[in-house]
Amino acid sequence: IRSTTVPNVDGSNNTEDDDEDDVVDLAANSLLNKLIRQSLVESSHRVEVLQKDPSSPLYSVKTFEELRLKEELLKGIYAMGFNRPSKIQEMALPMMLAHPPQNLIAQSQSGTGKTAAFVLAMLSRVNTLELFPQCLCLAPTYELALQTGRVVERMGKFCVDVQVMYAIRGNHIPRGTDVTKQIIIGTPGTVLDWCFKRKLIDLTKIRVFVLDEADVMIDTQGFSDQSIRIQRALPSECQMLLFSATFEDSVWQFAERIIPDPNVIKLRKEELTLNNIRQYYVLCENRKDKYQALCNIYGGITIGQAIIFCQTRRNAKWLTVEMMQDGHQVSLLSGELTVDQRASIIQRFRDGKEKVLITTNVCARGIDVKQVTIVVNFDLPVNQAEEPDYETYLHRIGRTGRFGKKGLAFNMIEVDKLPLLMKIQDHFNSSIKQLDPEDMDEIE
Ligand code: ADP
Repeated sequence: IRSTTVPNVDGSNNTEDDDEDDVVDLAANSLLNKLIRQSLVESSHRVEVLQKDPSSPLYSVKTFEELRLKEELLKGIYAMGFNRPSKIQEMALPMMLAHPPQNLIAQSQSGTGKTAAFVLAMLSRVNTLELFPQCLCLAPTYELALQTGRVVERMGKFCVDVQVMYAIRGNHIPRGTDVTKQIIIGTPGTVLDWCFKRKLIDLTKIRVFVLDEADVMIDTQGFSDQSIRIQRALPSECQMLLFSATFEDSVWQFAERIIPDPNVIKLRKEELTLNNIRQYYVLCENRKDKYQALCNIYGGITIGQAIIFCQTRRNAKWLTVEMMQDGHQVSLLSGELTVDQRASIIQRFRDGKEKVLITTNVCARGIDVKQVTIVVNFDLPVNQAEEPDYETYLHRIGRTGRFGKKGLAFNMIEVDKLPLLMKIQDHFNSSIKQLDPEDMDEIE
């Protein structure tokens, strides 16, 4: 695959284009997820399928060969190291590649193989002899568009005549340019501009339309309406596909407005549980005292890797400095970092370059804690009303029941915060034992 017209974008947010104004954390989190993802995310749940025509046979595939793909595409898939379709792909791919094309709404958590699935669908439907846009993919930000484009380029490595173009701000195409690239990936605002104002893309010739990250999309002002305007101009035989990691009512309503007669596929997320986590708390007087307790724990047991959560950036910074001065190898992950910086810190941590990662709430969600044996709440998670933030507690400490290993969690508690901890204990109906930090024998 060749990709010309690599956009020249600077990554800053101050632009006159209203395209990516107001980019919310959802998009940043999603990008971070993609940057740090190394493999498929598993789920023990079954894929739920709702067919638009329940009487038609339901196909699923266990191998990529069964899909009768073009040779060069199959080669691309294997070159990416894929051996067999993921759970969601088993059901989604036969629908997406069916003749006549079927529309699809698919929801499954990030990392389950949605992008790979629709990229495969786009690549398999491109006619390389035709030099005009045939597939259109909308993404919420230009960074996410580029990520998808990279997957197209990798999977399409052997599809030498397929070309990708990015309709994103900063990619200036001279007026009157004849766009010959078959796959267009872009953000709604710029795509709208290219289609209606600048007439660079003829929507009536598009045969696959993908709306990716629908949940992030509807969270961005104006993107739903712009997407719908684009969709309205597509031919009725165009295949329409929508993907989302989450599925609140608002996403569902949007999906139903934009995808006519859809099949629906859902894969529920693996729930987090505290069952296989031993939880402890240490009563402390103040911050220094908490730090001392932390050092005792650290010295008292063999620790693989640990994540320490603080409630504020300031606390996180303070703790990082303290630990560094005491000779520990720690790194700090906090909200003021760019997504790329966060990704690189997480990567270093995964590679074992640092044994301790100190972080704030902002970043808690993006991290896969599989290899981490210990989680420390240096501060308890609380919400604005100073009530316990149960969800965050679960996200920091919980593991998925089937895939998670056993873990240890320590809460550093100032005496006046003890009632909060008790509430957390009651809420999850799981015991949090008090620990004397001078006596680590209690743990093992
Ligand atoms: P999603 O779009 O749902 O977040 P992706 O398509 O990005 O998921 O896939 C997540 C990760 O799994 C990526 O690293 C991707 O390369 C990989 N992946 C996708 N499909 C397969 C497969 N069938 N076999 C192995 N790895 C896969």
